[in-house]
Amino acid sequence: MKIYQGVPVYPGVAIGKLSAVVDDRVGVQKRGSIDPGQVDSEFSRLDAAFQSAGDALRANREDATKQLGEEFGRLYDAYLLILNDPSLRASVDKLVSEELVNAEYAVDFTLNGYAERLRGLDARYAERANDLLDLRDRLLHELLASRVADYQASDEPTIVAASFLKPSAAAKLDPDKTSAIVTENGAIGSHTAIVASALRVPTALGVGPFLSETDDSTVAIVDGKLGKLILDPTPDVLAQYERELESYRATEARLQALANSTVAKTRDGVEIEIKGNIEFPSESKACREVGAAGVGLYRTEFLYLTRPNGGLPDEETHFRAYKEVAEAMEGRPVTIRTFDLGADKLPPGLRFSAEPEPNPFLGLRSVRLSLRNGDMFRAQLRAILRASVYGKISIMFPLVTTIMEFRKARMVYNDVRDELAEAGIPFDPDIPLGIMVETPAAVVTLEHFARDVDFFSIGTNDLLQYAMATDRANPSVAELYEQESPALLRMIKKTIDVADVYGKPVSLCGQMGGCPENVPLLLGLGLRSLSVAPGLILRLKEVCGNYSISECVELAKRAMLMESAAEVRMLVRNDWKERAGTGY
Ligand code: PEP
Ligand code: MG
Repeated sequence: MKIYQGVPVYPGVAIGKLSAVVDDRVGVQKRGSIDPGQVDSEFSRLDAAFQSAGDALRANREDATKQLGEEFGRLYDAYLLILNDPSLRASVDKLVSEELVNAEYAVDFTLNGYAERLRGLDARYAERANDLLDLRDRLLHELLASRVADYQASDEPTIVAASFLKPSAAAKLDPDKTSAIVTENGAIGSHTAIVASALRVPTALGVGPFLSETDDSTVAIVDGKLGKLILDPTPDVLAQYERELESYRATEARLQALANSTVAKTRDGVEIEIKGNIEFPSESKACREVGAAGVGLYRTEFLYLTRPNGGLPDEETHFRAYKEVAEAMEGRPVTIRTFDLGADKLPPGLRFSAEPEPNPFLGLRSVRLSLRNGDMFRAQLRAILRASVYGKISIMFPLVTTIMEFRKARMVYNDVRDELAEAGIPFDPDIPLGIMVETPAAVVTLEHFARDVDFFSIGTNDLLQYAMATDRANPSVAELYEQESPALLRMIKKTIDVADVYGKPVSLCGQMGGCPENVPLLLGLGLRSLSVAPGLILRLKEVCGNYSISECVELAKRAMLMESAAEVRMLVRNDWKERAGTGY
């Protein structure tokens, strides 16, 4: 038996064979051997991957030309030229048939080799070398998708094991065919973690290297609550986890009783609003079923990340998605966040800057990208406005850093609204406009925003990343990325206090709110509204019922005196055990 410790992402237990191994890490594909009899099927996979990569590139070229301009459209011609070069495919095929390696390895090896040789020629060719690597990523993405499709076609749900899984690949997993997710690399703040929560399957990320120890017959246990992977468990451990699985199911059944009401209450009767974070329109049904007070965050960038043939979604695609969510929520409020693309959320193979960015998390992302790409932004806003007659919609802008950014975004919105009014297209004239509070600059200058915006939502995932200067998805600095960090607590407190002074609603939609032990602390800091993954809503309702506000305030007072995240964590965990003690 071997035990691997990673980060817990979504609770629950899965026991089964580790048969669906996918690797979404480029540049380091493992060399997989194939039998001579498999050569033809690897060729067919390559045919399909080259075909879909070509289709996606042509779609991207068209969309980029339309929405970003001719200059961006032309970027795709270079990729198509390389893709259609018969010598590339011949080299890949030769590796497969002569060296008997899998298609992923052959693509990775061949294109890495080309890029290296080009770089060695002259610095002027560096850009061309990057094109080759982009193309490699695209082909690997297609090959990976075909692997996922293969195992998802089987009847039995499987544990998806990967070295690394990109958010866009995780978003394509079918939750009914996935019993758990476990990865060698990955961190709690990553968008892969967020997608895994959306799928509601037990997930442990970043457990360290384990794939080389496994084959199709390896039995594994994934413990999503503790973030563990256990390979080849002893009979005792297996029996213990079978009991754990039973108790997890019993908890789920008990929590169902809380699904009937959309209102959560503390023990002393204070109402707490608990909404759902969604990435896909279909999740709005899950929100309704657990009695969510609404959708507090709809991450619309996933419309771009999950396009079957690449390309950018058009206004109609946006509209259909927003209408579906608005209608599914039957009048409960829905906060649509405009696309938060960039950094780790880039549609496969698409870029928004001519040169690769040296520091994408500090670069052209989120509302900055919207303001630079007016047509894309306007298409989305038009669609939201059109969908607003089907429900109660608010609009939220991500990663706002200065009040000028908010005002510019609002100007675009007003302009689009006037355009619709002139064309006689109906919309809700009173859509509230708010911002994500997820940069330290926004927190420090929140008074500037408080007069202009209609509401705030605290994005602790990015706020923590930027406050601590720590990449949220980088496990090697994960010890600084702690949700209970005193710096983050102070920023949350300041945001709630300023919002209260100006009478503006404030909610919190980062992952900190999805951790049940932290909820009493957040209520004690003054928060009365939270938005979390739909699968966590019932747990949070139960937590609220276990605490009175005065107990929460007392807890928060003590936490605010502490100098380290570790002390705060200890405090909230011990308190949780004493007061709530429920095995969630
Ligand atoms: C956040 O940053 O806390 C947030 C909710 O947004 P995202 O995780 O999508 O960046
Ligand atoms: Mg964010």
